[in-house]
Amino acid sequence: MVVVMKKGATPEQIKAVNERLLKSGFNVHLSEGVNRTILGAVGDQQRLEACSIEALPGVENVVAILKPFKMASREFKNENTVIKVGNAFFGDGSIPVIAGPCAVENRERFLTTALEVKERGAALLRGGAFKPRTSPYSFQGLGEEGLKIMAEARDITGLPIVTEVMDQKSVPLVAEYVDIVQVGARNMQNFYLLKEVGKINKPILLKRGLAATVEEWLMAAEYILDSGNEQVILCERGIRTFETYTRNTLDLSAVPLVKQLSHLPVIVDPSHGTGKRELISPMSLAAVACGCDGLIVEVHTNPADAWSDGPQSLTPHDFELLMKQVHAVKMAVSDGGCEGLQI
Ligand code: PEP
Ligand code: MN
Repeated sequence: MVVVMKKGATPEQIKAVNERLLKSGFNVHLSEGVNRTILGAVGDQQRLEACSIEALPGVENVVAILKPFKMASREFKNENTVIKVGNAFFGDGSIPVIAGPCAVENRERFLTTALEVKERGAALLRGGAFKPRTSPYSFQGLGEEGLKIMAEARDITGLPIVTEVMDQKSVPLVAEYVDIVQVGARNMQNFYLLKEVGKINKPILLKRGLAATVEEWLMAAEYILDSGNEQVILCERGIRTFETYTRNTLDLSAVPLVKQLSHLPVIVDPSHGTGKRELISPMSLAAVACGCDGLIVEVHTNPADAWSDGPQSLTPHDFELLMKQVHAVKMAVSDGGCEGLQI
């Protein structure tokens, strides 16, 4: 539920409400706006009546959150969550683009790609060090060696780095190296992993599961928020359907839908979302037009020779064109004042 305090409620009144909620077993999140204070309380709704919050001095009203996701919902927090990573902002209306290869293959290739994408306007670098591959015989990633190469690329380019963590025990290691920790589609409902990344102080990029409904996806985000980490970036990356001409069906309707339901930023991954290089540009532009908060795109210096996901990887040259088009669409759909927006 959300407790809205009256305009001009005193600090003592706010403290009294906070204490009553805590005593009744609620977890309380205080948000002090310019005009009024709001207390978000998560816990057993049955206890609400017993603690008679509405009767306390300074309380304007109490609103129950009916959705199963609470902290992730717009009712809980009306303004957009903005997550700052390096010089990039997710959720402020800009379109930071995360770019890089599917997997870190070796030092030289990764550093070259990092410089190529930086030059073309990428705001962050991506790369997989621990790879969730369908076949145990496919390249599984370089592990910590890959993380070291990524950290070196960050030192050289100044761009923050994003990589996936696949299991609970690797969370401290991955969090030590990277700026955003990714939970991949296959792990979206690995609830123990979600609780673990909920304990760290790094933003989490939470991909939508291969067969997850929007509600299941938001409930996964709720696990992270409830564990204490409020920096969650959602990523639509396509879902499984009967269609076989694309790798997945990119559900762009989820972008405006989730942004209505939740205050969290939503980015789009057209690479895994389509599996096809030639669809990445049109889907990226559509994603920008429907209000996404960023993009994550696979780029490889030589896609034909990539160790994973070559068919959905752009060359640096393709990436340059994409960035120009993204900029143009962003300008076209913004209600003016696009100047200075980071894309
Ligand atoms: C990835 O981004 O490298 C990846 C494996 O993505 P997903 O979890 O969306 O398949
Ligand atoms: Mn990939």
